[in-house]
Amino acid sequence: MADVRIVAKALDDFGDDWHWVILHDAEPRGERRYFSPLVDTVCGILLDEGGVTVTLVDTGAPDEPNCPRCQGEGLGPALRAEIERVLEEAELVPVRVR
Ligand SMILES: [Zn+2]
Repeated sequence: MADVRIVAKALDDFGDDWHWVILHDAEPRGERRYFSPLVDTVCGILLDEGGVTVTLVDTGAPDEPNCPRCQGEGLGPALRAEIERVLEEAELVPVRVR
């Protein structure tokens, strides 16, 4: 069983950001339906635990979430470490004002 990652809103609230929603250990249960024992977001919002069947519907979701914390995680650990290293170096360089 594999994790299924989709872009979705965590709440039925159109003001909410789009998040990476993870269906952990998802089992296919027919077309566009998955059973998952744990559903949460990359940025840490717990949506359901104990088992839920999720039907994927086309909600007009973008390809990438607009939640900043989900986007940061979406870079992957290697790239994120590289960005953090560059940012740390940048802090050490004296700022020259012309
Ligand atoms: Zn998020």
